[in-house]
Amino acid sequence: MKKTTTRKTSPKRAASSSGIQAFVHASFVYTGEGIVEKEGRMLVPSDLSEIEDGAVVFDARKILWVGPTAELPKEFRSMKKTDLKNKSAVMPGLIDAHTHLVFAGSRAHEFARRCAGTTYKEIADEGGGILNTVKATREASVEALFEVALKRALIAYRHGVRTLECKSGYGLDHKTELKCLQVVKDLQEALPQMTFVSTYLGAHAIPVGVKKPQYIDEIIHKTLPEVKKKNLATFCDVFIDEGYFTYAEGERILRAAKKLGLGVKIHADELTETDSARLAAKLEASSADHLLKISDKGIQALAKSNTVAMMLPGTAFYLKANYAPARKLLDAGARVGIATDFNPGSCYSLNLPLMMNLSALYLSMNSAEIFAGVTYSAAASLGLQDRKGALLAGFDSDFVVLPYDRFEEMYYRMGW
Ligand SMILES: [Zn+2]
Repeated sequence: MKKTTTRKTSPKRAASSSGIQAFVHASFVYTGEGIVEKEGRMLVPSDLSEIEDGAVVFDARKILWVGPTAELPKEFRSMKKTDLKNKSAVMPGLIDAHTHLVFAGSRAHEFARRCAGTTYKEIADEGGGILNTVKATREASVEALFEVALKRALIAYRHGVRTLECKSGYGLDHKTELKCLQVVKDLQEALPQMTFVSTYLGAHAIPVGVKKPQYIDEIIHKTLPEVKKKNLATFCDVFIDEGYFTYAEGERILRAAKKLGLGVKIHADELTETDSARLAAKLEASSADHLLKISDKGIQALAKSNTVAMMLPGTAFYLKANYAPARKLLDAGARVGIATDFNPGSCYSLNLPLMMNLSALYLSMNSAEIFAGVTYSAAASLGLQDRKGALLAGFDSDFVVLPYDRFEEMYYRMGW
């Protein structure tokens, strides 16, 4: 399984750069080169492209060289080295490409009641559920929201996550949606060791007391242009489902976003089959997320497209729902990602390795598919596949040293 293809940089660059250092004697360096070559499709375990007793040379910005420690080029031999003593594996930094990181309030009491038999509808009728979160988020100051989001981002960091996608969607009005996106911008300044990608999800639900056409007009004519003008988001997302936004409404909002130059994503075919996976492929969306109810036609459409099918197995677990047909998507040739869907109602977890564990157990994904799900394919869903999600020379110096000697240990453990 050992693959020793390496990419080298010119010694001239190495010599002229300062701050070059290396990790040597990693038990394995997982480059993911095979996954990159296959663009994340039809993967087999050897696509992990592991290098036994490997080394990584890097500076503050980029990876300079990857290969077996024994083949470390001469020009790098005198630099600062960290010896991993063949006890730790190295892999690209994890990417959680679907979270609702920014919101205020707690729904712990609702969770307890729901588990004890109170229905979601009963809780919603009392002003609980998403309404509860929207109210708390509107009332929270930008400082308070930042404080709580920062703590959450650091939890993700401790699980190996280095790139975090964050959606708005708990403001559901112009002012609060912008406030939540501003928090993500502030997080990027506060935590330069992570990469934040923000997504405007105004079309998450219909706000109480506002007619839907009126809200859609606000999204298209007021908030989206402002988001673009202030450079507050890279993507626009819509929740297309029964009781939320229709296929036609979703298409209208996403076409408006594309016109402004934003990338698009869809919360697709989650509660009911709405043909939204096919819409994602048609609009060349960067991802179609959830997909619990995707049709066979939807699977075929995604397989033929570059749209990443984003699996959120923690949500199915949390809601005791059936899992998305990941195996069918993978076998059809789709690119499949794995994310937490961290949110206050249906998945209160920032533990991406736990989602990998669920993907192995309930989505029947092999090791390369799981690896790609949180590296290359997740990067592709954020438009970052040329610089993140693989451990190759020229890519960002964005990798994690595991406290284990093999990658599989990471998802063998459950919820560690
Ligand atoms: Zn979501």
